[in-house]
Amino acid sequence: MHADGPSPARGVNIILLGPPGAGKGTQAGFLMDDLGMVQLSTGDMLRAAVRAGTPLGREAKAVMDRGELVSDSIVSGLIDEALGGLSPETGVIFDGYPRTAAQAALLDEILARHGRTLDHVIELAVDEDALVDRITGRFTCATCGEGYHDRHKLPVQPGVCDRCGGTEFRRRPDDNEETVRTRLAEYRAKTAPILPIYAARGLVRRVDGMAEMAQVRAEIRRLLRPAGRRVEPGPAEARPPAA
Ligand SMILES: [Zn+2]
Repeated sequence: MHADGPSPARGVNIILLGPPGAGKGTQAGFLMDDLGMVQLSTGDMLRAAVRAGTPLGREAKAVMDRGELVSDSIVSGLIDEALGGLSPETGVIFDGYPRTAAQAALLDEILARHGRTLDHVIELAVDEDALVDRITGRFTCATCGEGYHDRHKLPVQPGVCDRCGGTEFRRRPDDNEETVRTRLAEYRAKTAPILPIYAARGLVRRVDGMAEMAQVRAEIRRLLRPAGRRVEPGPAEARPPAA
């Protein structure tokens, strides 16, 4: 089970935004593990529906087999179904949706049908040059998976894993500068249409995605505390020093 007492993410609805490499998947994992939130990733939901052969899945498959993009109505149908299966207490993280102004409006309608409203659009903000540096230098031990970095964390003994003594290492082929820059540009293009919409509604919360993973985690937790309610830190949860 999850944390004792009412979860700060009770019935909360957030959109989590961040370019590849910003740690979005990691942070979503924390929110699910720590707070019992559910991530609705439209890409995953679509693949699952196609695999399961549901009516929406069959419709989506026919569209994709023709090489066309899946329509907003199919995607919103999937979200509608998924929300219908959740308790109103369950917090939801939207991932990969919405991507357009029309989809943002549609999401509001769907949420309203389920008695929900969008609470936060959390943006993991990155310094693109620093992110390129972080991604292009990384490699892992092929045996135990320990992570290393050309410039920031080399094995103490060159070519030998600190943790398991392994001597084989792996790099992801798409961890090169050109690919990373392309992914960053795609991300910018995808978020550009929706960020101003949510910023105008006062929903965008920028979190420094370049900070330590634990710090980002704490910052997001802080954002999810119910507005207007002051929560004192428990012993296990130190308040970050005042800026
Ligand atoms: Zn190793």
